Amino acid sequence: MKTIGDLGDLRGKRVLVRSDLNVPLDGTTITDDGRIRASAPTIRMLTEMGARVIVCAHLGRPKGEPDAQYSLAPVAKRLGEVLGAPVTFAEDTVGPSARSAVEHLKEGGVLLLENLRFNPGETAKTDEGRAEFAQALASLADVFVSDGFGVVHREQASVYDVARLLPHATGGLVEAEVNVLRRLTRDPQRPYAVVLGGAKVSDKLGVIGNLLGTADRLIVGGGMVFTFLAAKGLEVGKSLLEADQIDTVKGYLERAEKGGVEIVLPADIVVADAFSADAAHDVVAVDAIPADRMGLDIGPESSRRFAEKLSDCRTVFWNGPMGAFEMAPFAAGTKAIAQALAEVTRDGALTVVGGGDSAAAVRQLGFADTDFGHISTGGGASLEYLEGKELPGLTVLDGDADDRAGDA
Ligand code: ADP
Ligand code: MG
Repeated sequence: MKTIGDLGDLRGKRVLVRSDLNVPLDGTTITDDGRIRASAPTIRMLTEMGARVIVCAHLGRPKGEPDAQYSLAPVAKRLGEVLGAPVTFAEDTVGPSARSAVEHLKEGGVLLLENLRFNPGETAKTDEGRAEFAQALASLADVFVSDGFGVVHREQASVYDVARLLPHATGGLVEAEVNVLRRLTRDPQRPYAVVLGGAKVSDKLGVIGNLLGTADRLIVGGGMVFTFLAAKGLEVGKSLLEADQIDTVKGYLERAEKGGVEIVLPADIVVADAFSADAAHDVVAVDAIPADRMGLDIGPESSRRFAEKLSDCRTVFWNGPMGAFEMAPFAAGTKAIAQALAEVTRDGALTVVGGGDSAAAVRQLGFADTDFGHISTGGGASLEYLEGKELPGLTVLDGDADDRAGDA
């Protein structure tokens, strides 16, 4: 892996940095700035080297055109506060505002471009569809640093194509993330447990097939657990359910049984009348979910059992909240898991929390980053890595940048 040090003297050079600054927003208020703080060290390092730093990133899912609610302007302001230095903000990505700002950027200065996804070329599905935008981005800079771990599983203009156009290096954050994930895939200390939850069920089911070959225990909660319960023939009421995945899950349950992987499911569930903080709610046994109610958290008995299953682990990976933690009545399960992870971390286990909402959850529930071994900035990216998939944004960095740098 080529790192920033391998790029040579960067003083005065224009360095395009792809960061992951996709933070949760409530209006224009950033509710968790973890990704900004995680991105700052690489940017700071480049400024200290005297580079002219052009940061690019996306926010949310705008539809390929400018949309004020997804502007990165609040992020530019927060990034400046975190860096303790002014950050110029360009009101477009590769247009007149960006070009002029790059021209005026001083050695050691930082510029943030507007949301990359305001341009349809960023996420276009074909190489041709992304080419023009990638060229325009590359033309702003002399070298490229890939530091947006949360997007390295995406074949997108600012992640993949730009790396093929410019001499490039892996940023410190991507390097750190990959080093931790490598420890989970290569000979993890045992027992090794994986805790899965959250709402993106079908996204996450894929990783299970691979984990059945490496993990000792698979602990399941959150929205995805109801597909497991349905696969066991239980009533799940109005809970999140991916009916078309039930057969896949049945296959996983059989494979786990044969392979000696313990699958730990909840014993009780907090059910509610509606997806709302003030909805009437009760704890019921897992086999007694009423047909007209929805499960929004694991129950207290499940929390106790899950914590016990984590207590002797030497390695734990956790992705996905155990319940709809944003609403106080459904946050207890997620809090119990965070607590259990914090305890084994203190005992010397390697614990990794992955996923935007999971990271936001542990901070919102009052945990410190240091309570865990590592809080990953990438949910999908870390899952795909664990799944054993090739991540285009990492593969492209192992390309022939040496020759290109020589030509430049
Ligand atoms: P991450 O971002 O950590 O990968 P996801 O995006 O998959 O996690 O899921 C996070 C969301 O899952 C949270 O907004 C939470 O409210 C929701 N969630 C968790 N459990 C449930 C549930 N039982 N029913 C509905 N939503 C849930
Ligand atoms: Mg999420």
